[in-house]
Amino acid sequence: MPKRRRKSKNTPTSDVGGEDSVVLRETAPLQMRYYGDPVLRKRAEPVAEITDAERQLAEQMLMTLEDTGNGIGLAATQVGVLKRLIIVDLGEEDDEAYEPLVLFNPEILSAEGEIVAEEGCLSIPDVTADVKRPEIIVVDGIDIQGEPVHIEADGLLARVLLHEIDHLNGVLFIDRISGLKRQLLSDELQKLQQAEHPS
Ligand SMILES: [Zn+2]
Repeated sequence: MPKRRRKSKNTPTSDVGGEDSVVLRETAPLQMRYYGDPVLRKRAEPVAEITDAERQLAEQMLMTLEDTGNGIGLAATQVGVLKRLIIVDLGEEDDEAYEPLVLFNPEILSAEGEIVAEEGCLSIPDVTADVKRPEIIVVDGIDIQGEPVHIEADGLLARVLLHEIDHLNGVLFIDRISGLKRQLLSDELQKLQQAEHPS
């Protein structure tokens, strides 16, 4: 019969603090969602009003994007929130420093031309492919202050906007590549789908 261990009365205990105590931050990064997560295939809903909750979500997404180290855009869908919100942070590109862009309810008003460039996605790690997209676009949306924004974009900015707006419609960049190339990626995608991602 096992002996019952007596609890020492002298053991100091503490209800607060200590190494295991949880520090709550007002703004913390969010959990990324990865390929295979059904949320990535859902359509996000328009945001009716920009409240503190929306602003905080945008801040948290900026932090989440920064944490990735190499990401330049993020859609709310990718952190499991089905709201039409995207952020873009190109950082420094072609010797120009860009301010992070927060865009609610983005809408593509026009798209011209065609250009092929390599893309990747934070939700589909280690997979890249050439994707054909419009070259010049005009996008409308609402900024973090709730003011309307009108953006004419080309180059990388246009590509990131289109990629992120796709996410809001449940579309991934791998949906836009040719069947053959996709076939070549199918093993990698299957592995990703079955992978356990760190939380
Ligand atoms: Zn993506």
